[in-house]
Amino acid sequence: MPDVTCVGVLVADVMVRPVDAWPERGRLLLVEGIEVHSGGPGHTTGVTLAKLGVPTAVVGRAGADLLGTFLMDVLREHRIEAHVRREDTASTSATVVAVASSGERSFLHLPGANARLAPEDVPDALLARSRVIHLGGYFLLPSLDGPPAAGLLQRAKAVGCRTSLDLAWDVHGRWMSILAPCLPHLDLLFGNRDELAHVAGTDHPARMAARLRERGVGIVAVKLGEEGAYVDGGSWRGRVPAFSVEVVDTTGAGDAFCGGFLAGYLAGWDLERTTRFANAVGAMCVTAMGGATGIRSRADTLRFLENTPRRG
Ligand code: ADP
Repeated sequence: MPDVTCVGVLVADVMVRPVDAWPERGRLLLVEGIEVHSGGPGHTTGVTLAKLGVPTAVVGRAGADLLGTFLMDVLREHRIEAHVRREDTASTSATVVAVASSGERSFLHLPGANARLAPEDVPDALLARSRVIHLGGYFLLPSLDGPPAAGLLQRAKAVGCRTSLDLAWDVHGRWMSILAPCLPHLDLLFGNRDELAHVAGTDHPARMAARLRERGVGIVAVKLGEEGAYVDGGSWRGRVPAFSVEVVDTTGAGDAFCGGFLAGYLAGWDLERTTRFANAVGAMCVTAMGGATGIRSRADTLRFLENTPRRG
């Protein structure tokens, strides 16, 4: 029985390094490494939760192709309950990530099967068995935009399941108009500073969190990269600094943070401890190539948290 059902974007990340210049048309460029990693907010948050020992389900769509089978294998390896519809007429979503020697990354992205994820993919029976439903990659799931997502969250609340949503970048610039219908039904809302600034109309973390709470959200978590996170849950609000680590690859840090936060939230920890734990999971994520590669067990994460200095 899952504690968390992650609904969202599933992506295969093909990481290529180093790519300091694209080869001339028709020419070949030799590189040092090409790795395929599972990614996308739905997948990475799901795998993070599973690695932290939280029973997890993942709902999404993938193609009936090799990359889809790879994503399914990773879910199975982590004993995640998979509700993934395989599509014959759409490819698995994939991103080619070209990593420069400086660490800077450029992306070629195919939305693929994720575009078809629909509210009906999440049955009431699964919601009733879950303590939290987490939507990962909102704004990248066109079939859920606005009222369909709000309806899904309402269905969850009706069967006693708590609700969580993590934003992505809205390439269409619609921001608040698409998020607004969801706000009254959200126990938790995650976003990074840029995303939440577009939604809330201010780039001041305390003000953006307050504005979103006024619209009905229970807890707002603003992810601030190497500055840590700002969280407002009404009874407690404040900024918690990040951990000082050597950064290898920041892909998936925000998704890992959400997994860490949900694990603390479900354990009943106070918000400060929960945020510190989420920062630790985010920091561990950036120490390795690939979304969930750097994530370890809950006990290892707690040891990291005790033994790693904070930034600033
Ligand atoms: P997103 O990936 O959604 O843009 P962030 O970049 O803010 O989110 O990263 C999420 C979390 O991961 C941060 O709140 C922080 O806890 C951790 N994190 C990200 N980058 C670093 C870093 N350079 N050093 C330490 N922790 C980091």
